[in-house]
Amino acid sequence: MKLVVASNNAKKRKEIAAILGSLGIEIVPVEQTVFIEVEENADSFAGNARKKAEAFAAANGCAALADDSGLCVDVLGGAPGVYSSRFAGGNASDTDNNAKLLEALNGTEDRAAHFACALYLCQPDGDSLSAEGRVEGFIRRAPSGESGFGYDPLFFCPELGKVFAEASAEEKASVSHRGRALRIMAERLKADAII
Ligand code: IMP
Repeated sequence: MKLVVASNNAKKRKEIAAILGSLGIEIVPVEQTVFIEVEENADSFAGNARKKAEAFAAANGCAALADDSGLCVDVLGGAPGVYSSRFAGGNASDTDNNAKLLEALNGTEDRAAHFACALYLCQPDGDSLSAEGRVEGFIRRAPSGESGFGYDPLFFCPELGKVFAEASAEEKASVSHRGRALRIMAERLKADAII
C-alpha cells in the first residue's frame, strides 16, 4: 500500500515513517506530495485528523494518513488539547509553547497530563480507518533532552522513567500516543487484508 502523510510537521512525519516503513507501507516522498493548507477547526483530534486525511487524499489521488495530536493537561481542563501547536499564538515555536505551559503551571503541584493521537486513513475508494492512542505522564518544571519535538522536553513518561526528549526514537515509539495509534491502525489494515 502507498500513501501520503498529511502533515507538514517533518518530525511527526519522521516518527510515522519509521513505524509504517517496518510494516511494508510505502510512503510517498515528501517532495512528490501535494501539500495543502487545511484549517484545523474541529473541536476534537479525530475531527481534525479526518479533515486533513480527506483533503490530502483528494489532492493527491491516493491514500492519505493524517495524525492530529496534542497535549492535554488535567489541571488546565485538557488544554492545550487541539490548540497544542498554537498554545502561545499563531506562529508560536515549540520553545514558546513550552514556556507558556510552564507559566500556566507555575506554582501548581498537580502536573498530570497525557498526549493523545488520532489517526485517520482515507483510501482512494472512499473507505476509511481510524485509530487513537494515548500516553500518560507529568509535566516537569524545566525542559531537558534534545530529541523529539513539541512538548517532549517537558513530558516525563513514567513507563520510560524519563522525559520524552531524553528517549531514543525507538523508546518513544514503543509507548507514545502516536506509536500506539499506529500499531492499532496497522492491526486493522492487516485484519482487512490491506497490508
Ligand atoms: P498538529 O500538527 O495540529 O496535530 O499539532 C500537534 C501539536 O501537538 C504539536 O505541534 C506539538 O505541540 C504537540 N504534540 C503532538 N504530538 C507530540 C509529541 O509526540 N511530542 C511533543 N509534542 C507533541
